[in-house]
Amino acid sequence: MGKGTYSSILSKELRIPHLSTGELLRREISMKTELGREVESYVSRGLLVPDKIVNDIVAKRLCASDCANGFILDGYPRTLPQAVFLEEHFPLDKVVLLQASLETIIERICGRLYCPNCGETYHVSWKPPKRDNICDKCGAKLTRRTDDSPEVIKRRYEEYLATVSPVVDFYKKLGKLVPFRAEGDSQILAYSLLRELSSSRTEILVEK
Ligand SMILES: [Zn+2]
Repeated sequence: MGKGTYSSILSKELRIPHLSTGELLRREISMKTELGREVESYVSRGLLVPDKIVNDIVAKRLCASDCANGFILDGYPRTLPQAVFLEEHFPLDKVVLLQASLETIIERICGRLYCPNCGETYHVSWKPPKRDNICDKCGAKLTRRTDDSPEVIKRRYEEYLATVSPVVDFYKKLGKLVPFRAEGDSQILAYSLLRELSSSRTEILVEK
């Protein structure tokens, strides 16, 4: 189970908004704001959006009134400059590091199934459809969500770890890091994570 699911359970239970950076960026693009046009100019060229722009978009969202009592960030900060910016302007209470073995990560990603007709998602191990490769909801044929081989996933995971490890060290030094083993029953795990987090400002950071 990925960070999005943890984030939405925590968001519901703590009654604070779940902010996914990916969604924030897509929303700016679709609203054709000045920032959105800048984001699009990078995304359309297949480039990473610079820290400065991502920071501005996140900061704008965190100033909204529904964030006054706390928020859950999902997918941010991903780089050290982003973390430094966030700590300066919106210091976090806790940073959750979801951890899983590479085997679990590969099984999780490779087992994802998707209904191209209605969008329902399944997993061969954890949420199998009632009939093999057939959508429970609409009866359409399911497809794999990724064609990536375990080798590709492993390489991408190692790249991700290299990018994110300065961020992890940064929060570890501040005493804010909460490492959490994310292997097992997702519902039970999300609630035990909730018990570990006593305060409201939480960032979800994941080794996916
Ligand atoms: Zn379907």
